[in-house]
Amino acid sequence: MLFTYIARQIKEFSNNERKKNELPEIYFKLASSNPRNEINRANEFESLLLKRMNAGELSKFKEVSEDNNGDKFLYFAMANDPNAKSCLLCHGDPADAPKEMVDLYPQAAGYHEEEGNIRSLISIRVPLKTHLRAGEKISNTLTMVTFIILSLILSLIWFFIKYADTQHQIILDKNQQLERTSITDYLTNIYNRMGFMQAAEQPFSGAKRYDKSFSLIMLDLDHFKQVNDTHGHETGDRVLQELALLIKSRLRTSDIFGRVGGEEFLIAVVEQSEEGAATVANVLRTAVADFHFVKDLSLTASFGVAELTDEVSLSALISHADQALYHAKNAGRNRFCLYSAEV
Ligand code: GH3
Ligand code: MG
Ligand code: MG
Repeated sequence: MLFTYIARQIKEFSNNERKKNELPEIYFKLASSNPRNEINRANEFESLLLKRMNAGELSKFKEVSEDNNGDKFLYFAMANDPNAKSCLLCHGDPADAPKEMVDLYPQAAGYHEEEGNIRSLISIRVPLKTHLRAGEKISNTLTMVTFIILSLILSLIWFFIKYADTQHQIILDKNQQLERTSITDYLTNIYNRMGFMQAAEQPFSGAKRYDKSFSLIMLDLDHFKQVNDTHGHETGDRVLQELALLIKSRLRTSDIFGRVGGEEFLIAVVEQSEEGAATVANVLRTAVADFHFVKDLSLTASFGVAELTDEVSLSALISHADQALYHAKNAGRNRFCLYSAEV
């Protein structure tokens, strides 16, 4: 069979198959600028390609372009082998050609070819609409799947960051809570000894550095043991809580107040000289003496006052206040004593 005939058979067969699958027809042709059968004549574009192929500019051509409807198609062309000497038997001078063939085809059809000339090319055009649509579908699905996976990953990352953040906050809160607990007296909710020392250290050293007044008052309930012995430990606890509230209500916010022993309390009166602190101590003393504690108990307290002087540490100043308190106790209780007076 002739190649051109085979090409047409292939085209017909493929298009029948494509029709069954609802695919648009393809264009498939063995195109020649000097065809034996007019059916195979190259169109303008194919002729141009053939010319370029014969000029040695290209042997294949491929491009994707659009038809009049704007639908994309793939165009492909490939040169057939150049004429061999044996080809010229039928395609050369008609005088040399088999007589039956010359009888069948007129003079103009496919003769006078030269050896080495490319006589024809394979020309194919495939509409891409269906393929592109299928590709689009896959691409859309892939985009969606990618989006879902990315969203999932991002959600997971977000969740873990949030989780880590929450855990971190919980730890911070717990630490803060622990820190507060470690410096707070469990019974009265004011500073314990450690809290008092920490809180008083800064104003103490500030006063020392800038030569400002700073005084301490230490107070201790008188005969408190009797409250426990007579009314029980719980009443004693209640008394301590009431005392803490009472004292706190009489202090300025800048004053530092802590429970540093069983029923011993310390007050740092910031920017107060011994004289000012003595006034505070006396106000507190009167307040305690006038107060009706739980079970209508009347109690008194003794106070020791010490002022910051040169070369005194906070602990030394506390011990000064303690000594003054000791003297207040010895002097009959329900009173305040100044450390300087004792010295
Ligand atoms: P003084 O006038 O000499 O201070 O006599 P006092 O009885 O108060 O003697 P002291 O200060 O030595 O006694 C302290 C008592 O305080 C002893 C203890 O039973 C009691 N105490 C200490 N801590 C607590 C506490 O947390 N709760 C209660 N209820 N009592 C406490
Ligand atoms: Mg006491
Ligand atoms: Mg005591």
